[in-house]
Amino acid sequence: MPAKIMRRASAFSFSCGRCSRCCRQQAIQINPYEIWRLARSLGLAASQFIDRHTSNGGLFLRFGQDGACDFLGETGCMVHAQRPLACRLYPLGRSLENGHETFERLEPHPDCQGRRGSRGSRGSVASFLEEQEALPYLEAAERYAGAINKLLAAIEAEAARQPALSALIRRELLQKTGAGTDPRSPWVDWDAALAQAGLDETCPPRDPREALELYLTALEKWIDDHIAGNG
Ligand code: SF4
Ligand code: SF4
Repeated sequence: MPAKIMRRASAFSFSCGRCSRCCRQQAIQINPYEIWRLARSLGLAASQFIDRHTSNGGLFLRFGQDGACDFLGETGCMVHAQRPLACRLYPLGRSLENGHETFERLEPHPDCQGRRGSRGSRGSVASFLEEQEALPYLEAAERYAGAINKLLAAIEAEAARQPALSALIRRELLQKTGAGTDPRSPWVDWDAALAQAGLDETCPPRDPREALELYLTALEKWIDDHIAGNG
């Protein structure tokens, strides 16, 4: 049976039993906002965090040989207050297509100790998101996606300037971003983005929102300096 599609107003509630079974054998994608929050809470620079705790060029949290997330401790998640969006949403999955947001229930771990419908008919997807303090993470994810769309539009504009070389230009500019291959790419490494934009001398941001604004400013500058007019 296909998964039921839900929206923020849809009825939903879930109470996690904190058994940590879903913190194994997962692929938890993270973005620079989540890296910034986790790195700062651990007293690490973004580059140190990426080297120690991520895989796939900084795009995913690292899971060890035993299948457990790097942050799974004896009593559960050791970074609970800063856990990434995917961990906050579980057991919901979220999709955003052409500006339309939908949610669906993911297949839970077979031995999940959580309780669904724990609030009867009173809970909704929206209230679950609030309980999980997921809203700043959702905003950051959307704004990061907006920056990626701007990058792709700049690449297409450069490719359109030389139609005969468009495929080559597209490939070269995409490689230049380094996302997924280079852990020092500004599309992954918050500190590298600021350094490349000459913003690393700026006072350290006081809170995650300030950090997000600074990072997005750095990315916009990086697109202007490295992509627009460089095809
Ligand atoms: S960050 Fe925490 S909640 Fe998320 S998978 Fe790792 S241990 Fe589990
Ligand atoms: S498996 Fe279920 S109860 Fe256990 S930590 Fe994950 S969501 Fe919570």
